[in-house]
Amino acid sequence: MNDLPPPNGGPLPPPDPAETPAAPAGPFASPRVVPYGEHPLRREMISREALFVMDRLHEAGYKGYLCGGGVRDLLLGIAPKDFDVATDARPEEIRRVFRNCRIIGRRFRLAHVIFRNGTIIETATFRALLSGDEQAARAAEEAPLPSRRKPFAADPTYATREGLVVRDNVYGTAEEDARRRDFTVNGLFFDVADGAILDYVGGLDDLEARVLRVIGEPAGRFREDPVRMIRAVRIASQLDFAIEPEAYAAARENAAALAACSHERMYEEVLKIRRCGHARETFRRGWGLGLFQAVHPAVAAAMQGEEGEALHRWVDRAFGQFDRWRAAGLEAMPALQYALLFGPFIETEAAALAAKGMGAFEAAETATASVLRAPGDLTQIPKAVIQDTQRIMAFQGQLARATEGSRYADRLRTRRGFDLAMVYLKFAASLDPARKPLLDRWLSGPIPETDWSADPARKGRRRTGGRGNGRRRR
Ligand code: ATP
Ligand code: MG
Repeated sequence: MNDLPPPNGGPLPPPDPAETPAAPAGPFASPRVVPYGEHPLRREMISREALFVMDRLHEAGYKGYLCGGGVRDLLLGIAPKDFDVATDARPEEIRRVFRNCRIIGRRFRLAHVIFRNGTIIETATFRALLSGDEQAARAAEEAPLPSRRKPFAADPTYATREGLVVRDNVYGTAEEDARRRDFTVNGLFFDVADGAILDYVGGLDDLEARVLRVIGEPAGRFREDPVRMIRAVRIASQLDFAIEPEAYAAARENAAALAACSHERMYEEVLKIRRCGHARETFRRGWGLGLFQAVHPAVAAAMQGEEGEALHRWVDRAFGQFDRWRAAGLEAMPALQYALLFGPFIETEAAALAAKGMGAFEAAETATASVLRAPGDLTQIPKAVIQDTQRIMAFQGQLARATEGSRYADRLRTRRGFDLAMVYLKFAASLDPARKPLLDRWLSGPIPETDWSADPARKGRRRTGGRGNGRRRR
C-alpha cells in the first residue's frame, strides 16, 4: 500500500451481544447518515490516489464514494488492502474526467484510473440489484454482445433463465449498489463531498456489534453466489467477528452448492484465505461448517475420525504456518502451500504406488498430481503450480536417498527447488520427529536463500532439476 498514515481511529467499543440489530426491513430505506467527525474515518487515512479520484469526480458533479472493505477496515482501525470507489458517473463519463483511465469488463464495465506510480483505483458505477441467479448473471456478462459480425447474439442484458430475468438494468442507484453487496459491513459508503458515512444496510450497527450479517436472506444470497459462504468465513475470521446465526446455519446447509462455482474462482478464493493472515481461524471455522470438506473432499475424507487426527492436526498447523509467515511479511508461493497442507496425504499415496513397484520419484510426482487433481476437488490448480508441488514432493525422496558427502548430495544442493524442499522438510520435521535426523543432516551444509518472491503464474518456466537422475534410483 502507498504511504497511508496508520489509522488512528482505533477499534470501536466492544459489542453488546444482546443488542444485535436486524438489517433494516424493506428495499429502499433511506440511509443512516453519520456526519464527518462523528465517526472515526478521517480523510488522511485514505490513500492519496483514491482521494484524488473521488475529489475529481465530485468536482465534475458526480458522486465520489469510498466503498467496500476500505470503509469497513478504516472504521475498525485496520489498514485496508485496497481502496475501491463507487460513483454515479457512467464509465464513459469517468473516462472523460481522468486522463489515464482504462475501461475494463464487458456488460458491467469498470474504470481503472491508473497513476504514474502504478497504483490503480478501481472505480465502479453504481450497480443495480441483480434478481435471480448471480452465476447466470455472471455468465451472461461474459457472453458476447450483439455486434456487427454477430447481430443475432442474444443480448445478455435481458438474459432469462426458467422465465426469470437474471439481468435487467445494469446500472443503479447508490441504494441498489449497497444492497447488492454481500455483507452489511461491506455495504457502507464514505461520501467524499462532506465526509459522511452513508449506511443503507445496517452495517454500522453490525460493525459495532462485531457481527457479519448477510444483506438480505442468507440462504438465497448464498445460493445466488456460493462463494459468499467462503468470503463470510474468511472475512469474519480476519475481523474476529461472529457470523450471524441465520447465515451460519444457511452456510452449513448450502455447503454442497459450492460445487456449482467456477473452479478457477475457487482456486483464487483459497489463495486469498492462505494469505489473509487468519488462515488457521478460517480453516477451523470452514471445517465446522463443512466448507473445507466441500472444497477438498478427498483430503477431507482422510482427515476424518480417529485415523485422520494426525493429518487434521498437520493441516491445521500448516495454516498456522501461513499466518506466521504472513505476520513476518512473507508469503509462500502456492506450490509450497499445497505441499505443506497436503504433504502427508501425498506421501501416503506415493507409498502405495511405490509398494506396487513404481519408482520412488515417479510415485511422488504421480501421487502429487492425483491428490491436487482429485476428482471432486473444487479448485482448478494451474499446471505450473502442480509441477512445482511435484518438484517439492519428489525432492524429499532424493534428500532421503542421497548419501551424505556424496557428489549427488552436492549436486542436490545446487538444484532448483532445493530451498523449497528444505522448507518442507523443516516444517515436516517440526511435526514428525522421525524426520529430524534427515533434516539435521541437510542443515549441516549451506542452504540457499528461499526465493519467496517466485511468481507461481509465470509462463515458460525452465524444466531443470535433473529429473532423469531422480528416476535412476540410487
Ligand atoms: P478484502 O479486499 O479485504 O479481502 P473486500 O470486502 O474489500 O475485502 P473485495 O473482494 O475487494 O473484498 O470486494 C469489494 C467489495 O465488493 C466488497 O466489500 C463487497 O461489498 C463487494 N463484493 C465482493 N464480492 C462480492 C460478492 N461475491 N457478492 C456481493 N458483493 C461482493
Ligand atoms: Mg477490497
